[in-house]
Amino acid sequence: MSECIKTACGLDCYDACSILADPKVFPKIKGDKMHPVGNGALCALLNKYMHEEARITKPRIDGKEVSMEEVLTAVVEAFRADETLLWRGSGNLGVMQDITNLFIEKVGGTLTSGSLCDGAGDAGICKGRGVNRTLPWEQIAKAETIVVWGRNLTVTNAHMMPFIRDKEIIVIDPVRTEIAKQAALHLQINPAADFDVAIALSHLLLASRRYDAAALKKSRGLETFFDFSTAYCATTPTKSMGVDKEVLERFAEMIAGKRVVFLVGAGVQKYITGSYTLRAIDALAAVLGLFGKKGCGVHYLGNSRLGFSDPFAVDVKRVSKAVTPFSRFKTVLIQGGNPAASMPDTQRVVSELSEVNHLIYFGLYENETSRLAKIVIPAKSFFEKNDFRLSYAHQYVERIRPLYSSEIGIDEYLLTRYLFDAFGFKGLKSEAHYLSLWRDRCGVEKMEQLISPVYDEIPYQKGFGITENEPFFFLGAEVFERYRTLRGVGSNDKRFWLLSPKSSKSLNTQFIRDDRIRMHPASGFVEGEEVCVSSEYGEHTFQVTLSEDIKPNCVLISNNTVGVNFLTPSMLSDEGENACYQEVKVMVERV
Ligand code: SF4
Repeated sequence: MSECIKTACGLDCYDACSILADPKVFPKIKGDKMHPVGNGALCALLNKYMHEEARITKPRIDGKEVSMEEVLTAVVEAFRADETLLWRGSGNLGVMQDITNLFIEKVGGTLTSGSLCDGAGDAGICKGRGVNRTLPWEQIAKAETIVVWGRNLTVTNAHMMPFIRDKEIIVIDPVRTEIAKQAALHLQINPAADFDVAIALSHLLLASRRYDAAALKKSRGLETFFDFSTAYCATTPTKSMGVDKEVLERFAEMIAGKRVVFLVGAGVQKYITGSYTLRAIDALAAVLGLFGKKGCGVHYLGNSRLGFSDPFAVDVKRVSKAVTPFSRFKTVLIQGGNPAASMPDTQRVVSELSEVNHLIYFGLYENETSRLAKIVIPAKSFFEKNDFRLSYAHQYVERIRPLYSSEIGIDEYLLTRYLFDAFGFKGLKSEAHYLSLWRDRCGVEKMEQLISPVYDEIPYQKGFGITENEPFFFLGAEVFERYRTLRGVGSNDKRFWLLSPKSSKSLNTQFIRDDRIRMHPASGFVEGEEVCVSSEYGEHTFQVTLSEDIKPNCVLISNNTVGVNFLTPSMLSDEGENACYQEVKVMVERV
């Protein structure tokens, strides 16, 4: 390659790859081998599927192609309505995506709060640690034992694999994932049993005095935690977790006194009790003394914006994203998302979207939402604009640079500029100004690699909280009581738990879609047969694929599958305003 431009993948992914590209041979691109966590490889989403997806090239109003000027005029008129909403997807993680917030503030519109992804876990982490800092990958590389807790590493976080090579691997997951097949121990627990497993292990370690006494001096509430975990374990049979006591004891032996890292995935917290699960996993880590130590810690989705002063943070009305009441608004702008398929409870969402007077879709590809929209604005891809991307999984910040100029679409800055001008709003600065605000907060490492302003080689070494002089707070009586109230004590329910993880061929509903349900052969269904799957929220048909890797009391329908969210609930997690995609059981019947 000649004249390589260094840019980055903007997709919502742990790895946040750095890219080298020669515009003359685009879409042929390469991963940046020199990047601290990349290894020169890019996944198929970027090498293949993204370029095979047909772009929306022309603006539309009521299904008719129009000019960009005409569509933007229609958007301006739509935003003259009283009740307006901006609902943003997370397909592109560039920070400039959020500049449209500035227009919503000026026009008196509404934004969303909460998350479809990791908000419950983040809320739980913040209750214990005060702040959700990212564990650097160099600490993961120094661990002796890696506990992969509900994260399908080879699918969602493949660049982590070289960092855990030659380590003892333990996997906790209802599915026998590829990494589980390589593990020294796999706890194939029941869905939503992660809290119980973490509490049982903490109790086992505390009761047998296998804890880090020095580290526990930096905590509060240990005695209460021990008392309540004792009582809790006495009434929670390990059978309800889907593992037996001997396996838990073996697990405890494998992690006590070792340098251990927990790699926790978002799936464990896609429940009403999701925040409590991360609090329980953090409590286990605190018992083991894993915070603030070399080669130890809990790696979840960290707060990538820590240390930045967000120029797009605005104080406006908000509605919870996971249960957005779209029909309350006359105008809804959907920016880079597909709520008609990717939000829980499709039947409710589609019905609500259909009642919106002016549904505007601003994005790259056709999808269920673009097909419902009255106004469609083509967007620019991250290969066509300037931006920065942060990472919720590592400390590095990547500059996104345009590789070529395209006639197609408009970017978020120019859309905001147009709307400011049309409404006569003042105060929007240049694009370069906003980009420099993000850039100037970053640190710089060798090879000009940008790094988070709050990067700390060993997070929580000095202490917890934003000031780093607070203790770790164990979960107390109120959490145990609340958890028990919400979850009950197991059940004899014969329906299947629904698991809806990510797939390797898609980013949520972008790129390759699926039509399958994966079930254990003991389910009695036959490979390839069509089944109707139903829950109290709706139903849809899928094709059966049998797999011994799925626990018999579960079905797996990946989140790129057409119709999966007809089954999922409009429900918020008890803390963190998060979607609860997996808080549902389903019936499966032959068609
Ligand atoms: S989707 Fe993830 S793994 Fe694939 S290129 Fe982008 S950042 Fe890398």
